[in-house]
Amino acid sequence: MRGSYANLLFPVKLTFELSYRIPPPLEGKVIRGSHVLAPFGNKVVTGLVTKVFDTPPDFQGLIKDITDIAGTGRVSEKEIAFIEWMAQYYMCTPGEVLKAAVGNSIDVTPPKRSNRKKETSKLVNETKNCIKTGRLTREQTYVLDCCRKNIKANIPTLIKGVTGSGKTEIYMELAKEQLSQGKSVLYMVPEIALSKQLTDRLTEHFGRHLLVFHSKMTPAARKKVRESIRNHQEPSIILGLRSSLFLPFDELGLIVVDEEHDNSYKQSDPAPRYNGRDAALMLARIHGAGIVLGSATPSLESIYNCHSGRFSLVELNHKYHSAGTTTTEVIDTIREGQKGSMEGLFSRRTLDAIGQRLQKNEQVLVFRNRRSYSPLVQCMYCGDIPYCNNCNVSLNYHKKRSILKCHYCEYAIRYNTICTKCGRPGLKERGCGTEMIEEQLRMFFPGSKVARFDAETTSSKVNEEKLLSDFAAGNTDILVGTQMISKGFDFGRLTLIVLVQADSMFSSDDFRASEKAMQLLVQLAGRSGRRDTRGHIIVQTARPDNQVYIDFLEGEDGMARELQERKEFGYPPFVRLVRISVKHPSKERVEGFCDIIARKLPEWGVIDFTGPVPPPVERVKREYILNFWVKLKRNTDSPTIKSTIFAGIESLVREAGRGVSVGFDPDPL
Ligand SMILES: [Zn+2]
Ligand SMILES: [Zn+2]
Repeated sequence: MRGSYANLLFPVKLTFELSYRIPPPLEGKVIRGSHVLAPFGNKVVTGLVTKVFDTPPDFQGLIKDITDIAGTGRVSEKEIAFIEWMAQYYMCTPGEVLKAAVGNSIDVTPPKRSNRKKETSKLVNETKNCIKTGRLTREQTYVLDCCRKNIKANIPTLIKGVTGSGKTEIYMELAKEQLSQGKSVLYMVPEIALSKQLTDRLTEHFGRHLLVFHSKMTPAARKKVRESIRNHQEPSIILGLRSSLFLPFDELGLIVVDEEHDNSYKQSDPAPRYNGRDAALMLARIHGAGIVLGSATPSLESIYNCHSGRFSLVELNHKYHSAGTTTTEVIDTIREGQKGSMEGLFSRRTLDAIGQRLQKNEQVLVFRNRRSYSPLVQCMYCGDIPYCNNCNVSLNYHKKRSILKCHYCEYAIRYNTICTKCGRPGLKERGCGTEMIEEQLRMFFPGSKVARFDAETTSSKVNEEKLLSDFAAGNTDILVGTQMISKGFDFGRLTLIVLVQADSMFSSDDFRASEKAMQLLVQLAGRSGRRDTRGHIIVQTARPDNQVYIDFLEGEDGMARELQERKEFGYPPFVRLVRISVKHPSKERVEGFCDIIARKLPEWGVIDFTGPVPPPVERVKREYILNFWVKLKRNTDSPTIKSTIFAGIESLVREAGRGVSVGFDPDPL
């Protein structure tokens, strides 16, 4: 459309659209989706045209001119639709979504090649020849057929299959079919770092058609992938994390979301706080592409969608690799302690089990979802616990580095035993982290090689890969790890997994705690006893009567009961939840601003909400936090109410809340 004015989008948070004049020489060339150069602040930057129109905008002052057209590449209607949907659904501005998509600056792509058609068809033939396929079991073939039918009928498929049941082969087969039709495939995984095994496997099958995309790549490498997709010189399979949803897809035929239940699909900060799985469903709808989700432990959201007929559920019940089943044992640490059977953090039965496995030259994984040496230190004379200066949380003790450190900010102090409150040498560690577990294991098994895999030891990519390859090669006997280790590994000689102080999985006031704990247990079970070995899991707990352990012992997942409880108490997936977080260094300012929000919410159409309530850690990085939990019905009103809340609060911040920051988190995890 021709026009004299255009609205531009920049990768920054702006709650209103910026209008510019199109100078006569550029008229007709500036269209929706064009990249243009325009003055912004005191610079000339690249912006994205979202609207072209003729009526002069209602604007006081001088309207600036677009400087020039930047490149000839264009952003497609589908990409713009996705950005606009995400801003609306996740309660942020389109500029914030654009920033998530492209970073701080938009790179402008060269024009499409004119000889594309010819090239594609040539490459499609090549694709057909170079992609190898293995043989599928009867069960896999059945699931594959279901997926094909659902893709044709535009119904999302959920494949529920235990680890090792061969979901990957099905994804690859579906991907191959798309590529041979000249269409691209997006293959999403939660943690690219942990899927080197998968990358190798896909490379073997798809060769140069495989593109890997994640945020740890260099900007130049990311740009290369983006351009290759925008030009669509050849159909490709893109293996990526949630950020790959923003790639400039053209002919997208299929999206695979593996481990769809995984929490790392959710972006926690900054906005848009999107869930990669849910956004993938929308992206597939925009492109008319098929979508297949897979998990051994599907999220309650996806189970609910199957019950309500939105998704089609197919199950893979047999292990693809011939593997023995995993056995489970729950050890009551309180009772063991009373019997005098605890040695440090371990029960004697656990230590015996570890010893036996090591003797057979098998490997052991010890899991604890708490890094550092101990979560806190406490003075044994006066009971004082050292806290962070900036956050309302106790400092963690890191023994090797001899520091007390906050895990919410960068605050750290040298550790010594002198209590700052009473002056006596009374500071002692309480509770245990991965570092303490590692130390005790070295003491109990002096001849064995013990390594630790957590956020501290894997801060560099090189270390991380070395730890994993050492364990995979059998150079490490015992690996101590946090949550990070439960994802996407396949270690042939791992036969025993021990959870130390497992109850910390339930320590938060999280309504999803049981669901997450069960997912973790099943994921860990899938890591042990693969191929021809039989796995065993030991759960050390002070609360053996917890229903999750009982279910797990019986081989049940307990999700039907969990779903029923969510329904009774009105929690997701039966309602849509939005968390609104208000932050400011002054407690009074936060409280005052929250009072206004609490009065406004009913006016904006919110019937059910709680708040303001402080989160478990109510002060982080010198800011006080209060939260609202807004419950919305799963109906057509909720998008409107969300937009009203967002616009309402944004304007309140401009009017009355100088310095107050408000974060919106729809569908929080
Ligand atoms: Zn802190
Ligand atoms: Zn003291």
